[in-house]
Amino acid sequence: MKIPVLPISWADAAPVLRALDGPVVPAEWRGALPFTYHAGPGPAVAHLKLSFEWQLVPVYDIIARMEGSELPDQWIIRGNHHDAWTHGAKDPVSGTIPVLEEARVTAELAKTGWHPRRTLVFCAWGGEEQGLLGSTEWVETHARDLDEKAVVYINSDTNARGFFEVGGSHALESFINQVARDVPDLQTPVSILERERARRVVAGQKAAGSGNLPIRALGSGSDYSPFFQHSGISALSMGFDGETSWGEYHTAYDTWENYTRFHDPGFAYGEALVRTAGRTVLRLSEANLLPFDFRATSRVISQYTKEVITLADHSRSTTEKENGLIASGMHQLAADPTKPFVAPKPKDGVPHLNFAPLENARDRLEHAAKAYGTVLDAWQSAEKSLDIALSKELNRTLYRAERALMREQGLPRRPWYRHVIYAPGFYTGYGVKTLPGVREAIEQRNWKEAEAFIQVTADRIDAFSKEIDRATDMLTTP
Ligand SMILES: [Zn+2]
Repeated sequence: MKIPVLPISWADAAPVLRALDGPVVPAEWRGALPFTYHAGPGPAVAHLKLSFEWQLVPVYDIIARMEGSELPDQWIIRGNHHDAWTHGAKDPVSGTIPVLEEARVTAELAKTGWHPRRTLVFCAWGGEEQGLLGSTEWVETHARDLDEKAVVYINSDTNARGFFEVGGSHALESFINQVARDVPDLQTPVSILERERARRVVAGQKAAGSGNLPIRALGSGSDYSPFFQHSGISALSMGFDGETSWGEYHTAYDTWENYTRFHDPGFAYGEALVRTAGRTVLRLSEANLLPFDFRATSRVISQYTKEVITLADHSRSTTEKENGLIASGMHQLAADPTKPFVAPKPKDGVPHLNFAPLENARDRLEHAAKAYGTVLDAWQSAEKSLDIALSKELNRTLYRAERALMREQGLPRRPWYRHVIYAPGFYTGYGVKTLPGVREAIEQRNWKEAEAFIQVTADRIDAFSKEIDRATDMLTTP
């Protein structure tokens, strides 16, 4: 079934809603307008006359490059979109100005004779709001180059007062914690990392003593998607948030006046983002050994595996309970006898799925990630450095490792999304689903597809572990 949808403002919606009759809607469907919300139908008949502009307009991507002096074929890519629904002060400009400022500062550095070791690519995307058009076209057009050369993509869509917020590839979790540890929060006397830790502790979340703070998994909603979930390029999405409201998001009120009065007066957090993303880009570009550490990836894949097993078990026990209740006839007895009653239908039982391939792949990954972590720790404490030939080959293996988690044919019913660990949910829009092929099949009670994707996901994780093993071998030999 396809129902046409047209977003309209509350002022246009009010007379239509007010004219509806029929049952009062459930509480969670109600808005805040001062009348009772009914579900319809009628009695009023509405005639809608819609007009659309269908002309084709160009979308512009602005790309600036600074060639790397030693490793020009390894690219650090930094960007955000420049298009907006209306004025766009917060979305996207507050996240794009820092990109421009970082590019300006980098150019100033270059005037002193400094050159980045790796190539830097600064991007401002067009057509994001209509479906990530500019970034997607660019990534698809340069697919072969990017597959070979892209090290990391860093996005920052919207920024405001508050706490450091970051999501992305967990192989970069440890690295981004190190960056955040070195950036002062400009309105409190601690680093942006310690400020975020305090927020989590106060909110009752786990915040691991003085260790790394876990980063979140990315769903979608901005230009990291074509890099990350389509191409397997490790990505980070970062910004500050949490002390201002989102009420004007995507509306005509997202203005300069509103932004500078409420969201970031004096641009303290605009500056904090420049300092954070700027360090991220420069540390990646200058690193002798790229700061990938797969122990966090292994930790979250274990956690996601546990979650999908629990999800299947839970589905089995609730199905048994519900079917028992239906068979007992209690629903009918508990219903109001003066009202029509439709008995719920029993569901098919939930079979025991074979999670063994996924659990074995998880264990092999844990082993591989630990082994690399051990040689990495030793290498770091010895303060060694790699010669240029090994540096090229080892770093290439590290940044291309995440490509192994791509399934060529993509996810069921949406082949463009190829990452088997992270995807936006089929039904959740921006919201993330981890181990999406397995998790969504269980949620949709598609047991055959769940079993098939347990194997598919396990195979990709095994391929990923092999890449990590290769890196371990290279870092052990020198
Ligand atoms: Zn945006």
